[in-house]
Amino acid sequence: MISILARRKEKKAKTPRKVLTCPQCGSADLYYEAALITGYKYHCKKCNYIGAFVIEKEIEDDAGE
Ligand SMILES: [Zn+2]
Repeated sequence: MISILARRKEKKAKTPRKVLTCPQCGSADLYYEAALITGYKYHCKKCNYIGAFVIEKEIEDDAGE
C-alpha cells in the first residue's frame, strides 16, 4: 500500500529561487527602475509602489511547466 507514495514526483533538485515582492500588495510584478542619485528603486506594476524596500521571498521553482 505504499505504491501511492512511491509515485510521487522525484524532484530533489529543486532550486529555491528568490523573488522580490511588493510590500504593499505582495505582487511579484516588480521592475527595477534606475534613480539617478539614490541608485535603484523598485516599481510595482500593480499598485504603483515605488521604493527601495521590497520583500524577498523564497520560492521553489517547479521547472515552470
Ligand atoms: Zn504592489
